Amino acid sequence: MAINFRSELAPLTPYKPPRSSQEAAAERGTDGFVKLTSNELSFGPLPEAEAALAEALPRANRYPDRHAASLREAVAEANPGADPGLNVLVGNGSSEVLLNLLQLVQRPGEVLFPWPSFGLYVAISTTLGLSPKKVPLTGRHTAKPEALLSAVTEKTRAVILSNPNNPTGTYLTLEEVRGLADALPDGVFLILDEAYQEFVSDPAYHGSHELALAQANVVCVRTFSKAHGLAGFRAGYGIATERVADYVERVRFPFSVNLAAQVAAAASMRAREKIRGRAEFVIRERGRVEEAFRAAGLGYVPSQGNFVLVEAGPEVFERAGVLVREGEALGYPGWSRVTIGDTSENDRVIGALS
Ligand code: PMP
Repeated sequence: MAINFRSELAPLTPYKPPRSSQEAAAERGTDGFVKLTSNELSFGPLPEAEAALAEALPRANRYPDRHAASLREAVAEANPGADPGLNVLVGNGSSEVLLNLLQLVQRPGEVLFPWPSFGLYVAISTTLGLSPKKVPLTGRHTAKPEALLSAVTEKTRAVILSNPNNPTGTYLTLEEVRGLADALPDGVFLILDEAYQEFVSDPAYHGSHELALAQANVVCVRTFSKAHGLAGFRAGYGIATERVADYVERVRFPFSVNLAAQVAAAASMRAREKIRGRAEFVIRERGRVEEAFRAAGLGYVPSQGNFVLVEAGPEVFERAGVLVREGEALGYPGWSRVTIGDTSENDRVIGALS
């Protein structure tokens, strides 16, 4: 007789990555596709990160620092007021930080998030025996604090806000986030998933780490996978109060952040002025791509991420050798999410419109 698995896991499907450029090229019999599907950075790691890796490589026979102290210090330096030993969370990508946070809450329970948003929220909540509850974005593709608040029940354990939101690129300002945090019941976690925070140009957005340090139920979660160009190494971090950080460390796997991830992420964070320069490049290029969409008469959602959601099917871009994320899988059938790449990749996107 087969083992009875938990019935709530039946609807889950393994993450299906978007097609790679090699697969697309093989199918079409051409090569030279550019991959703008996964909101990665088009540049490799900083030279500082590469040097740190080279230095660490001969030590790969040893387990890494269990506490990831150097990485925590680099994160704390970048977030004034955070104590490296008390307020910094680390993880195998920000995905693990999100997982660890939801591992802390009581069940049964519900996890609320605006929708469409990042699909992992559904998978993690369900895996942990929590019920995901989707709260629709407004007609302007933006999360609405009042809608989230009215969806809260006595079973709500956490609200996850992708800010900016993947796939729309819309965001709430710090004042709006503060208002939401203040209005939520004390027992409900507000998890701010800020994977794209480096690409936000509106100053009214910035400073959420101060909120996370001051307010017991607020946590911000960030990643090295986007602006730092380290998606392949899997490193993420969070800022939280001492009590949250203490509990996260109880559930985290001892060596979840491997040696390569620790040294590369720490070096990259210490060189964050250069990362800022790269993010500014992406912001400028995002403006150029949005302007081209506007000029072509296409609907798009003004974005604060390193991607733009546009009202055009993926075939429009594929014809020009550009792979984008098809909106169908993201809750936007007929649309595409286009990652901002380097200058020549973005030229290809723009060229596809004529
Ligand atoms: N949050 C959001 C909103 C994302 O889009 C992503 C990556 N696509 C992540 C978190 C996860 O990033 P990682 O685990 O690579 O840090």
